[in-house]
Amino acid sequence: MSNYSNIDSKLIHGGIDGDENTGAVNVPIFQTSTYKQQGLGKNKGYEYSRTGNPTRQALESLIADLEGGVAGFAFASGMAATTAVLSLFKTGDKIIISSNVYGGTFRVLDKVFNNFGITYEIVETSDLAILEKSIDADVKAIFIESPANPILSITDIKEVALIGKKHNILTIVDNTFMTPYLQRPIELGVDIVVHSGTKYLGGHSDLIAGLAVVNSEELAERLGFIQNSTGGILQPFDSFLLIRGIKTLGVRMDRHIENALFIAEELKKHPGVKAIYYPGLPDSQGYEINKSQTSGPGGMLSFELDEKYNIHKFFESLEFISLAESLGGVESLICHPSSMTHASIPYEIRQKVGIVENLIRISVGIENKNDILNDLEQAFLKSYEG
Ligand code: PLP
Repeated sequence: MSNYSNIDSKLIHGGIDGDENTGAVNVPIFQTSTYKQQGLGKNKGYEYSRTGNPTRQALESLIADLEGGVAGFAFASGMAATTAVLSLFKTGDKIIISSNVYGGTFRVLDKVFNNFGITYEIVETSDLAILEKSIDADVKAIFIESPANPILSITDIKEVALIGKKHNILTIVDNTFMTPYLQRPIELGVDIVVHSGTKYLGGHSDLIAGLAVVNSEELAERLGFIQNSTGGILQPFDSFLLIRGIKTLGVRMDRHIENALFIAEELKKHPGVKAIYYPGLPDSQGYEINKSQTSGPGGMLSFELDEKYNIHKFFESLEFISLAESLGGVESLICHPSSMTHASIPYEIRQKVGIVENLIRISVGIENKNDILNDLEQAFLKSYEG
């Protein structure tokens, strides 16, 4: 039994802490595909690394611990985690998704699971009345992001979990933007949490990984079976890297928030900014709900560039802020959702859900906040065509 309960300590000591055999303070990288068996049906708990690997298991128990779930599963990418979770459903089932989910989540439903007769409906889940109205007999799950990507719209997770329970359907939250440091959906009543570990959990833009956590033994057994059967597991070295990243998650997130709030406040006043989306601004959509279900607004913000500025020149003028896919690393990244992260969503749907052509998303890094602002400022100046 550990004598700590705070998440800051859990990030460092949660799950399996170090190595009992050697005293190493870090879990070793068990780079092995198989395990010597002591006799027929006799082994030390591991038979084959697709089924189980000690380094991956340490990560899986860590994320289960952090999210407050029954079991965790580590996958080769966030999309592999989402794919495994969606594999819990069968032909005829319908999944409701938030109108702002990650483009890849939309794409796998639209182009892969649709082929197997699993359908989806895009719903503005931040409006609970609309959400409840859209539930029919085919709906078997609600899949949300809050804040949802890239407009950072907020959905009341506790209420969605209650709606799920009332209609006997599963609730799933993609918690990539918040991480368990800021938001723990299972504690709010949902059934499954998925993550792109590639982002804040890894934290250094140096690996691709995915995680899923479930709230019951039954789901643990089903998802474990899918993980072993379909095989999209995370490798031992990447499991080690992800454990290492998670240890510093708390200090990184605190700095991401400090910087993002500063940049959001500055951009809000800027003549080049038509609209700003950041859950930490008191007039943002769902501000109070987000405050009640998280312990901070995170490091992601989006804004609409005024038409007087040339968006191509704006991106090209940035010096150390990189135009790149992804988010959640120590370095600031900027992207154009309509042609990058959300390009797989058809134009008409993008317009409807606010992913307009002049929308820009920033993953605010942990560099000096004045340097980040200065880089943006000089790009505004160079791209002005008033
Ligand atoms: N979920 C969210 C919110 C994401 O932003 C991403 C990737 O950008 C994913 C899931 C997919 O994760 P991965 O790229 O690790 O497959």
